Amino acid sequence: MKNQTLEELTRSTIKKFNIRISKKFGQNFLIDEKALDNILYAAQINKDDYVLEIGPGLGILTKLLCDNAKHVLAVEIDKHLVDILRINLSDYSNLGLLNEDILKLDIKKELKKSFKEKKCKVVANLPYYITSPIIMRLIEERQNINSMTLMVQKEVAQRIAAGPGGKQFGILSVAVQYYSIPEIIAEVPAQSFYPRPEVDSAIIKLTLRQKPFISVEDEAFFFRVVRGAFSQRRKTLLNSLYGSDLRLEKNDLEKILINCEIDSRRRAETLSLEEFALISKEIELYIKKQSTSNLP
Ligand code: SAM
Repeated sequence: MKNQTLEELTRSTIKKFNIRISKKFGQNFLIDEKALDNILYAAQINKDDYVLEIGPGLGILTKLLCDNAKHVLAVEIDKHLVDILRINLSDYSNLGLLNEDILKLDIKKELKKSFKEKKCKVVANLPYYITSPIIMRLIEERQNINSMTLMVQKEVAQRIAAGPGGKQFGILSVAVQYYSIPEIIAEVPAQSFYPRPEVDSAIIKLTLRQKPFISVEDEAFFFRVVRGAFSQRRKTLLNSLYGSDLRLEKNDLEKILINCEIDSRRRAETLSLEEFALISKEIELYIKKQSTSNLP
């Protein structure tokens, strides 16, 4: 048993429990020791740590987390896999298993129940079909999370960590960088998984910021402006904002951008987070002024 590779172990578990691998749930199991080591090293798990794992699958990463952390809460959507995990990891008294969809789960409540008021570290080899929604959902729970060490599609990791100026910089980069500091830890080739996916992956670590990167008065409005600016990537900033749900006149938007000293012919992907914040502040001010001047 000792000399069994992770691939052999994965194949034999699948056979033993007659598992039907679900494409729908993004089941690509990690079979690469080096990638597992990289995840653990990047996550810096120690015996004081509370860990939330999403999608434990066959439990290879889960077992390592349990060996190293104080307590692990693992959320798995697939009932059959949860039943198997309950058998295979029954020795671990520091593991809690939930058979739930992470996107439907009351994460705040469950974290409180399992970890009391302690902040946790998230570690996961994420299912690719819902990577961005999961990351955004976890960011909403940032009060209870220190860091997230995640295996994601390589292209998504690059988009998250991208700086302004390139094609990869977009809403996901702005949203994640506003709340966290991303760091790509390592690239992981497709053959590190069973079954082999069609894309390569990367391990990314997001360290949650105590305070957002820039100070913004109305976060929801800031993200509305960011969405508006990126709504038509091929167009100039002026035309994208004009075509967005902000519903402002073109010449007003032009004045606002002049006030911000930002060239209206630039494209959204060239703007820094500070410039987005400035534009959003100026648009908000403009809308406020408009509404007070319309008062009887
Ligand atoms: N952690 C395992 C590993 O590294 O080999 C499995 C990773 S596999 C890429 C993704 C896992 O997430 C699968 O076990 C899948 O069933 C589970 N999953 C998919 N969608 C989920 C959801 N919405 N909520 C919770 N788990 C989910």
